[in-house]
Amino acid sequence: MIRLSEIKLPLDHAEPALQEAILEKLRISASELTGYTIFKRSYDARKKSNIILVYIVDVKTPKEKALIQQFKKDPHVTLAPDMAYHPVTQAPKDFGDRPIVIGTGPCGMFAGLLLAQMGFRPILLERGKSVRDRSVDTFGFWLKKRLNPESNAQFGEGGAGTFSDGKLYSQVRDPKHYGRKVLSELVNAGAAPEILYINKPHIGTYRLVKIVQNLRATIEQLGGEIRFQCCVEDIDIDGAQVRGVRLDSGEYIASSQVVLAVGHSARDTFQMLWDRGVYIEPKPFSIGFRIEHPQSLIDQSRFGAQAGHTRLGSADYKLVHHCENGRTVYSFCMCPGGKVVAAASEPGRLVTNGMSEYARDESNANSAIVVGITPEDYPDGPLAGVALQRSLEERAFELGGGTYEAPAQLVGDFLADRPSTAFGQVYPSYKPGVTLGSLSSSLPDYAIAAIREAIPVFDQRFVGLRWRRLF
Ligand SMILES: Cc1cc2nc3c(=O)[nH]c(=O)nc-3n(C[C@H](O)[C@H](O)[C@H](O)COP(=O)(O)OP(=O)(O)OC[C@H]3O[C@@H](n4cnc5c(N)ncnc54)[C@H](O)[C@@H]3O)c2cc1C
Repeated sequence: MIRLSEIKLPLDHAEPALQEAILEKLRISASELTGYTIFKRSYDARKKSNIILVYIVDVKTPKEKALIQQFKKDPHVTLAPDMAYHPVTQAPKDFGDRPIVIGTGPCGMFAGLLLAQMGFRPILLERGKSVRDRSVDTFGFWLKKRLNPESNAQFGEGGAGTFSDGKLYSQVRDPKHYGRKVLSELVNAGAAPEILYINKPHIGTYRLVKIVQNLRATIEQLGGEIRFQCCVEDIDIDGAQVRGVRLDSGEYIASSQVVLAVGHSARDTFQMLWDRGVYIEPKPFSIGFRIEHPQSLIDQSRFGAQAGHTRLGSADYKLVHHCENGRTVYSFCMCPGGKVVAAASEPGRLVTNGMSEYARDESNANSAIVVGITPEDYPDGPLAGVALQRSLEERAFELGGGTYEAPAQLVGDFLADRPSTAFGQVYPSYKPGVTLGSLSSSLPDYAIAAIREAIPVFDQRFVGLRWRRLF
């Protein structure tokens, strides 16, 4: 197939315009075009008065060889790469113990799916509940402040992010097109096929629940097994070789192949691994707040008169500022038309995150405004970052009044360092509710100073957003 890039069409173009553009670019007739698929569709909104769509398409034509030769100097006409996924092996008839996968978040689910597709009949062990039962617990926490430490926004089938925006993009380089395999499997499990080609695709919370169930069904049909409410409490390691795992029920499962896919909230499991002598390295992470704006304001600011156009959807943003104190502040996990959600998994600690439905049609946009920190900020061993997280979560819990309400402040008040006493233009979406006050003691001083420096800069850069006046 031939890959054609940089095909630019008006936002409102009619359906046939894309095919016409392909024929015109390649100078071929309709009968010489066997078919085409859209590889990517993005938009260029730099000029709000003239937003254009930019396509990359893969074209099938019997004239492929001749056209590649003819356009050899044109960087926008190339051979499409092989994006098919090639399994590394197939299970031999007698492969011994079945492999164990610990955790059924995205990592464990896909490890389990690939092992099952290769014929290894994996056993997936998940400490939380099935996605339906877990939904009851998670919504119970959001509405009634009842936290179940083993079944919540972090733990349970689908892992962290099952109740999320389901954003499916990252900045990781992907020369082997593994991301394509993931997207294809998500489409097979019921995601909208558009995720294969739109720029920055997302799935949406409620759709994710069904997709997670379908992925489980596929793993089971291929001979895999998924066991819920099975927390791995110990790993049997003999020298450098894993021999098996022990569950919280006391059951021992032997296997020499164990995939650890426990995510970032399994702090007890990290401790167990450390105690067992498993090598652990601290990694950098980020700390900060969620910020909310009316979604209509973001749409207007980015798309002008085209705000609300179905081909654009709800607008997002990405902002970065390098501060004088050497810190970097950036927006992260922006959820257009979504909600801020309670994402704690430990009692007496408070964590926020963001989610959106597929339609992204809630009135508020939210994103995390975070400051990057590194192991130099928590130098006391590989688990010191976890200790820091815990102390910040405890502080947030306390500032929220000790009831899982989130501490909150208007941005203008935060910048002026005065506590908030009344809501502004934006009513916060976080459930079970917020407690107004001051956030200035919620993070280390360097982080508060960095965010205070960054917000006015974001304000200037994102003309019309008026961050200062918003919640
Ligand atoms: C509300 C929210 C919204 C998010 N939105 C997005 C988004 O839009 N896009 C995006 O890319 N990322 C998003 N994220 C982050 C994303 O969800 C995580 O990066 C991702 O889930 C990590 O995948 P994982 O499989 O490594 O770990 P996890 O998803 O954390 O899964 C680990 C699983 O292992 C289980 N487990 C842990 N310990 C044990 C044990 N000892 N025994 C058995 N089971 C165990 C846990 O119960 C859990 O189900 C969001 C996260 C949250 C909380």
